[in-house]
Amino acid sequence: MKSNAGVYVHIPYCLSKCSYCDFVSSRIDNTFEEYINLLEQEIYLWKSKSSINVDVDTIFFGGGTPSLLSPVQLDRILSRIVKTFAITNNCEISIESNPDTLNIEKLKDYKKIGINRISIGVQTLDDSILKEMNRRHSATQAIRSVLDAYNAGFTNINCDFILGLPSETRATIDNNIKAISELPITHVSTYFLTLSPNVPLSKRLQNNDIMLPTENSTIINWETMVNKLKDMGFTHYEISNYAKKNMECRHNLHYWNLDQWFGIGIASTGNLLTEDKNLKTLKRYTNFKKFSEYKESVKNGLLPEETFELVNGVKKVNEECMLGLRLINEGIPYSFVKNEYKVEHLLENGYIKFINDSIENNYEKHAQEKRIGLTEKGVLVSNQVISSLFID
Ligand code: SF4
Repeated sequence: MKSNAGVYVHIPYCLSKCSYCDFVSSRIDNTFEEYINLLEQEIYLWKSKSSINVDVDTIFFGGGTPSLLSPVQLDRILSRIVKTFAITNNCEISIESNPDTLNIEKLKDYKKIGINRISIGVQTLDDSILKEMNRRHSATQAIRSVLDAYNAGFTNINCDFILGLPSETRATIDNNIKAISELPITHVSTYFLTLSPNVPLSKRLQNNDIMLPTENSTIINWETMVNKLKDMGFTHYEISNYAKKNMECRHNLHYWNLDQWFGIGIASTGNLLTEDKNLKTLKRYTNFKKFSEYKESVKNGLLPEETFELVNGVKKVNEECMLGLRLINEGIPYSFVKNEYKVEHLLENGYIKFINDSIENNYEKHAQEKRIGLTEKGVLVSNQVISSLFID
């Protein structure tokens, strides 16, 4: 039977670098147009892989800043995807964007060529913090982009926010929440600021040029945001994601459900079943990160895979456990986790709960039929909770 899969296309270019960013992206240069040609060629290379029998039901342009692509460039890549893979009628086609690269005409053209979901990098609606983060847009521009997207016909609009930013206060969060309540946003992603040591913001912190809010106030701000989003009708469906009814990101659900997806472009990762279908072994590959190596491979007619690993056995079970627990309302079967002592401890301390269970205090008796999931307390320490449930 055919299964559904996603296609991820990486656009590793930005207009400038944000001060906290450690993603694979570089300043846009004269390789940009050539890269788009290479993407088309890479996609075409999949055409000969007839053994991969899937229907593509999500396509995601991520970055970097994919909204640097003109509608014509985007259409070229999309057309190549459509000619190469079997695409479902209701395919979700998403693009990540930054407000300074959007305008109403471009958004209307994106809509015309088939993009039906837009993700806008808002991060915060405080102009001084945006400046500190070296973001290229203002709060007003971010709000304008959401309205432009809506007026261009987008009904599936995500906004990304970061929590724990320098100088963030309760007023910053209240302002963000107020804007979300007033705008036609159907999906919200919130991430805690995490900094690798080599980004400019880390250096400024080390020099005491800026201060981060305390962990305690960030947690309170997060709890406020979670509760307010719920009041507005968003479901907290994944550790960092909230959606109005039926507006979950179907592409990201492929990742969390450990489904199959193709990774296209520099540094992209793909996840595909091997021939060994009975054992359901997945092959996870990562493309070359250097432009020159990526280009050479594609030009030679070879998929630009730099490394790969096989995901099966205990490794796969642990991944299913980790990813399943990220999905707040789905969780994982209780029987999936072997160390009952650890589960009991986490249940008793309120880090996990039985999902849809009215008999939480009687879990041992009903253990076999039950699923467990993170509580809100558990979400805050999800890495520790999830890793403690791994099978050794
Ligand atoms: S726009 Fe996104 S990918 Fe580009 S530098 Fe900023 S945070 Fe990084």
